[in-house]
Amino acid sequence: MKPKFIVVTGGVLSGLGKGVTTSSIGNLLKAQGYNVTALKMDPYINVDAGTMRPTEHGEVWVTDDGGETDQDLGNYERFIDITLSKKHSITTGQLYLTVIQKERNLEYDGKCVEVIPHIPLEIKRRILDVANTTKADFVLIEVGGTVGDYQSILFLEALRELKREVKDLIFVHVVYLPIPNNLGEMKTKPAQHSIRFLNSTGIQPDYIIARASRTIDKVRREKFSFLCNVEDDAVFAAPDVKNIYEVPLLFERQGLDKKILSHFGLRYKSNNNRVWKSFIHKLSLLKNEVKIGVVGKYFDIGDFTLEDSYVSVIEAIKHASWANNVIPKIQWIDSKQFETNPKSITQLSQYDALIIPGGFGGSGVEGKITAIKYARENNIPLLGLCYGLQLSVVEFARNVCNVKDAHTTEINPNTKNPVVIILPEQKKLLEQKQYGASMRLGSYNAILKKNTKVAQLYKKNEASERHRHRYEVNPDYHQLLEQHGMILSGMSPDGKLVEYIELPNHPYFVGTQAHPEFTSRPLHPNPLFYGLIEAAKKRAKRSSL
Ligand code: GLN
Repeated sequence: MKPKFIVVTGGVLSGLGKGVTTSSIGNLLKAQGYNVTALKMDPYINVDAGTMRPTEHGEVWVTDDGGETDQDLGNYERFIDITLSKKHSITTGQLYLTVIQKERNLEYDGKCVEVIPHIPLEIKRRILDVANTTKADFVLIEVGGTVGDYQSILFLEALRELKREVKDLIFVHVVYLPIPNNLGEMKTKPAQHSIRFLNSTGIQPDYIIARASRTIDKVRREKFSFLCNVEDDAVFAAPDVKNIYEVPLLFERQGLDKKILSHFGLRYKSNNNRVWKSFIHKLSLLKNEVKIGVVGKYFDIGDFTLEDSYVSVIEAIKHASWANNVIPKIQWIDSKQFETNPKSITQLSQYDALIIPGGFGGSGVEGKITAIKYARENNIPLLGLCYGLQLSVVEFARNVCNVKDAHTTEINPNTKNPVVIILPEQKKLLEQKQYGASMRLGSYNAILKKNTKVAQLYKKNEASERHRHRYEVNPDYHQLLEQHGMILSGMSPDGKLVEYIELPNHPYFVGTQAHPEFTSRPLHPNPLFYGLIEAAKKRAKRSSL
């Protein structure tokens, strides 16, 4: 089948849930038996998301092949259950970098190289390349930002041109319909204006997704479709939902998938998506809770960006909890309070499990180390992710191996006992100020030690997870750590890098140099998160006795 393209744009507000819309359409088409892929176009000049602070941009999603991308790729992978590459993230920075490089290489045969047509040409080349390499039946294309932003205009122009060329392309426009308190009525005007803007770029949306706190009513739906020049049944309601994984079913009930298929002349098969339906149904039956604390440095972030910065960790906790038939209650614990008020550490005893997530820099580090010590000594299940593994090693070296000044050189470059050091190749890169896309990135294999908890959870002797780091456990200290009882349960195939650690005689004390949150899917939780929640459940049961 020739690929069909579905473009998703957004109007009125950012943060509307375009990513969830795109992913949900993908979920439904996959359930219809099609090969689906998705890509995201971001208007910023950063070549990738790796150089942006998570507080600025939300989490940096890492692809299998080491791309540092927008977090929406995470939604695509989770909802559609696919694995994407860095090619699925296109930024303005990449486009200009490529076009200027081609110009320098005389690849434009002496022509004057201009924004139009050369930037849209490069955008289309990249989209078609993804279509070709994935051999997808459906290519979903999400345009970042909001229509009307100056910086999105070249993407819209490229998509207008693409429609003329490939024909099989539809536009889905996601809009927000506010219900102002003083009026108590849903207003469509801002959405109408955003559609008028799209029209001015030569694009007519085929379908409209009406995001709002409530369901759009029939009267407004019809008025809206009339004014915006779409068919009567082309406006779909997308009210707020408790759980984003319900959105595919919300669209399915309104026949969005059926409509899209018939648009392309394809037959709709009813009674699909049974697995997803029973998964959503099961969630509504869950009662028991586990309390999970995520220990980090949060006061600098502010409430609104917090969830965005750790979205994959949160989703991985949910997937693993649901598979264990429990509901997770996630709490953010600011590690700095343990530095200013050491007594406050005892509050950690109320949690069924703790996570020390990835991070960079010194803020709140001593507090995290204190939290790790408390979890180790008080048998609280703990999972350390990347920085979480490194700080667990620092804690163990200091308090079990009795190396009091043990530290990571990321924080104390002059420590006499550098138990965590920079990877040798990373040192050179940093000296040359090569910061972009230069960490140890993407999937790496680890060989797991037999009979360890980690090997048991992965159910094999090898594991592959995605990475994003510059530091590693210092090989000079491997023996010392092992002599004192730490199990280095997974190593890089050459035996040099510690990929997993664990402690025996503890309900669950596991650390990984990787970011296992990136491979967690709603129906296939990541094994390490699964193990953590399994242990949390046991602890919750014990404390409720
Ligand atoms: N700062 C640490 C490193 O660079 C950990 C990184 C992370 O947690 N992703 O190795």
